[in-house]
Amino acid sequence: SAAILAAHAVTKSFGSTPALRDANLTVTAGEVLAIMGPSGSGKSTLLHCLAGILRPDSGQIVFDGHPLNTMSENNRSLIRRDRFGFVFQFGQLVPELPVLENVMLPLLLRHTSRRVARDAATAVLDRLDLHGLHRRRPGELSGGQAQRVAVARALVNRPTVVFADEPTGSLDSLAGENVMDLLLATAREQNATVVLVTHDARVAACADREVLVRDGEVTDYATVETNKPGD
Ligand code: ADP
Ligand code: ADP
Repeated sequence: SAAILAAHAVTKSFGSTPALRDANLTVTAGEVLAIMGPSGSGKSTLLHCLAGILRPDSGQIVFDGHPLNTMSENNRSLIRRDRFGFVFQFGQLVPELPVLENVMLPLLLRHTSRRVARDAATAVLDRLDLHGLHRRRPGELSGGQAQRVAVARALVNRPTVVFADEPTGSLDSLAGENVMDLLLATAREQNATVVLVTHDARVAACADREVLVRDGEVTDYATVETNKPGD
């Protein structure tokens, strides 16, 4: 299958702290990839570089043929808006807005009509078992419900790639399993690619493939496999 996203020899430091060293990673269109590794190993930095949020010090990030690292800030933000969805550990919903409005937001930012945005938000909220909760404020939801709203908001645009950074990190294991099941089932129905950061082996077990980050170095088993001597 085709690569949709890749990091080539990516390096990123914060001051004198090297967070990523010569990181290489290829993500195949439609796969669910888990980025594993201990706390502080560079997982979030890798995710932020892949998603065009952080600019690497050197190396290349290529998304669907576009070199994200050399693109203007404006074009990067259009790609984030139109092609990517994001789920973070703490939902980052807008507290003043009802659930339905939170999920409509990505479409309204793209100047979609309110009627179309409402229909799309309603459909994805139904898919995530949130049909009774449209008028609630985020503060009135359980942690699992709030994360499912965050997933709905990430998917309402039908993004090409969904980036999830510890999406179940704030939840107990039952609620976490439910969020992961619905996130992955819905993403697969949309043929989205999922890039997931987690330190939880049970979460990573839901993925099609795992890569490991240690001390800023990425072990991509797919690359190891194809570069094996004797191939
Ligand atoms: P992980 O996601 O695996 O926990 P991170 O990518 O968040 O790891 O961090 C990797 C390293 O880079 C750590 O040493 C962390 O403290 C450092 N780091 C990450 N982001 C920043 C930042 N914005 N400023 C300074 N240091 C940072
Ligand atoms: P995670 O590793 O799950 O991203 P952290 O609590 O390590 O969670 O980081 C949260 C945010 O703070 C991230 O955006 C990261 O880039 C930033 N960060 C991490 N380490 C540092 C640091 N030493 N100094 C400043 N910012 C940091």
